Amino acid sequence: MKPTSSFLSLLSESATIAMSRRSRELSSQGLDIINLSLGEPDFDTPDFIKEAAEKGMQENYTHYMPVNGFADFREAICRKFKRDNNIEYTPEQIVVSTGAKQSLANVILSLIDPGDEVILVAPFWVTYFEQVKMAKGKPVVVQTEIEDNFKITPQQLEAAITDKTKLLLFNSPSNPTGTIYSKEELLALAEVLKENKHVYVISDEIYEHINYDEEHYSLASISALYDQVITVNGVSKAFAMTGWRIGYIGAPEWIAKACTKIQGQFTSGANSIAQRAALSAVDKDPSSIKDMVEQFKNRRNLMLSLLNEISGMITNKPGAAFYIYPDVSAFYGRSYEGYQIKNSTDLCNFLLEKGHIALVPGEAFGTQKHLRISYATSEEQIKEACKRIKNTLELLQ
Ligand code: PLP
Repeated sequence: MKPTSSFLSLLSESATIAMSRRSRELSSQGLDIINLSLGEPDFDTPDFIKEAAEKGMQENYTHYMPVNGFADFREAICRKFKRDNNIEYTPEQIVVSTGAKQSLANVILSLIDPGDEVILVAPFWVTYFEQVKMAKGKPVVVQTEIEDNFKITPQQLEAAITDKTKLLLFNSPSNPTGTIYSKEELLALAEVLKENKHVYVISDEIYEHINYDEEHYSLASISALYDQVITVNGVSKAFAMTGWRIGYIGAPEWIAKACTKIQGQFTSGANSIAQRAALSAVDKDPSSIKDMVEQFKNRRNLMLSLLNEISGMITNKPGAAFYIYPDVSAFYGRSYEGYQIKNSTDLCNFLLEKGHIALVPGEAFGTQKHLRISYATSEEQIKEACKRIKNTLELLQ
């Protein structure tokens, strides 16, 4: 045993990262692995963003900057919130961070005391759970079902709130399910939240632009909730900028100040060149990524139609993001040669080792019956992947 801290022992390794590592190992042995486990667009960052980064370098944006981000970038983020989300924020209410992941950590560490209850809507993005544990908060998990398109109802929300509830972690469009809530559904949840002013809400809207059937609507644009909601967003998904690591929040000013204080001791301001690049991205009208969204929509339709040919797999139709989250529990209890499928992790391992497909087990997202399939890849790969999934699952008796 190495003398590592008890804090470290609170953490689990990200299942997504573990799956990617195993898939790289198999690839390096010369196997042709199709990796559908990653949560990032397969497109390149658009040229106008790269040019803005180059300009930033030429203009010597290469020094320390304010911890909460360049002032002109925060102004641009305010314009973006007004244009896309109908939310009024001032630059003092914005904090720019090293990815939305850091934005989330800042908010959670700013608000949560040991024992505070945090409501998580399962399936949830794996990082939420881990960050709440790091802050010694108490995760209160509300399960949603595929028949309801994985949406929490106002009744479920109300039942989960206690005097100790400090925070709700809300994610629409959602990773891992691709669920997007309608305006009416959000207004119904808002009725519960506005009666519970002690509950703050992180509204993670990082997939807002990747949606197909439903308009994205922001919780903080509901005036009764404005003081309770922290809107988290970033450029990773919409602008294919996952490697640039820029995320941000819009929040009540006291929360923004708290986040700046925490970030000031961890990382200081986010990378200066990446901020110059991201400024050009947030200033761009979202219609500029229409083609990418259209391609994702075609891929969703293709993948769904192919998965629906697999007997035993239950799907719903996700309206956003680039994930499908089918119920695969019909395969539990089956076996093939030495493989015994007891749960989603076993099934993902089997699909990887036998079918050479990398997926993410549902246990990582707080559910037992599902797995996550990303369709952020070409149509040829989707066709080949679905063929392999079908053939491999058919081996199970
Ligand atoms: N929120 C959700 C729901 C995500 O899926 C991700 C990334 O996968 C993030 C936040 C973090 O994004 P980033 O740190 O790349 O800005």
